[in-house]
Amino acid sequence: MDPDSTDSDSSVDFEIDTEPAFVLDDLVDSDSTPGSGSGSADSEFIPSNPGTNPMEHTFDPSLPSQHSYLGTDLTVLYGRTVLDEDDSNWIPLYPQVDVVLVPGQTLPLAIFNASYIQMIRQVISGNRTFGTICMLRKTPGSDELSHADVGTTAEIYEAHESASHHAIRVKAIGRQRFKILETTDHTSGFLTARVRILPEVKLPDPLSMMSCPVLDRFRTKANIGASTKRKHNLRLYDSISSIWPAWVYDQYDPERLVKQMLEILSCHKAVSPIPTDPVALSYWVARSLPIKDSRRLVLLRMNSAIDRLRWEIFTLNKLSLLCCRQCGQHVAHQQDVFSMSVEGMQGTYCNVYGYVYETVTIHKATGLRLQNAPPSTEFSWFPGYAWTVAACSRCRKHMGWHFTATSPDMKPRGFWGLCRRALEAKLEEVESTE
Ligand SMILES: [Zn+2]
Repeated sequence: MDPDSTDSDSSVDFEIDTEPAFVLDDLVDSDSTPGSGSGSADSEFIPSNPGTNPMEHTFDPSLPSQHSYLGTDLTVLYGRTVLDEDDSNWIPLYPQVDVVLVPGQTLPLAIFNASYIQMIRQVISGNRTFGTICMLRKTPGSDELSHADVGTTAEIYEAHESASHHAIRVKAIGRQRFKILETTDHTSGFLTARVRILPEVKLPDPLSMMSCPVLDRFRTKANIGASTKRKHNLRLYDSISSIWPAWVYDQYDPERLVKQMLEILSCHKAVSPIPTDPVALSYWVARSLPIKDSRRLVLLRMNSAIDRLRWEIFTLNKLSLLCCRQCGQHVAHQQDVFSMSVEGMQGTYCNVYGYVYETVTIHKATGLRLQNAPPSTEFSWFPGYAWTVAACSRCRKHMGWHFTATSPDMKPRGFWGLCRRALEAKLEEVESTE
């Protein structure tokens, strides 16, 4: 049990920097949350989420991915833009703190800044593509920011500008990775960059280059598909001509990596089919892992699904605990992460004021306190659930929200949505190497 669980010091405020419905300063930790009522320090300690069985699921997992809280008046924009790999292009940038977009990841935005509204207008009238880039603190806790060297293009597929022209709501999706070559301040007040689109290199199974021609008649699709054992035996024969044993090549076999990854993910109760294509799977995992920005950027720099899958398998095998990033208190076990959305165990959502959160869904958590306020359904990212602000019981840092079902028929009855930015994934034995 958490040592602070009996803490009755109700004079200490939550240190809340973010929540779904309130204005917050996204760049600094702050306890000044106008209108949030966070000054009422009464809080309730909730050590876990009893009664939540991730196997019992009546919630429609497609709802979070629709981002209906942005409104139902967005216009669908059709078409697809594919930028040539290795080509350089000038694109406008939308910088964000604590958000690292990955290909395939949905990015909902509510934009109120006049310069960026103008930027989005230009993007919509063009190829609907802009660059997303993560702003990194130069030192921990510092307000001094610099942009990462890699990012991901985002393609707008729905948009609506308010009648007053003071806001624009957008749904976009991550498409292609890029490396920044140079940047310039646009005269309209936003950043543009010349970027090189990073290639997606599809590496073949390395053992295929060692294959014995005399065995080719056994490699027909029907033969190999009929027997995994036959394929295994063929690989053993092929490896005879190599200096390395077959198991070394197996570590770079995309088919085996996919199988290994799906076995690891089987404990997380996915509510929709997990991709089996190596590239799609590697990005699905990249946007689901509750890892910090620097590790996600490592994945963005990798040009091969084999490299990404190997890195992700290594990380998942080492990942055991999720802790408060500020004080290190244990918050959840990795196996308690589960899916509430077809997009996976983590989703990207924005609040009514435009702040974007990558949110991990967890069915059981500890060491958290709930704000003593009635659960709210306003701007809820999970229709049918009401949210309550949750903070670390030790350091009061805002961690995310607890979501409670508003209907007795809804299952799960409740779950936690914790911000990736507030979590520290504890990896066994690898911390010192990074
Ligand atoms: Zn803490």
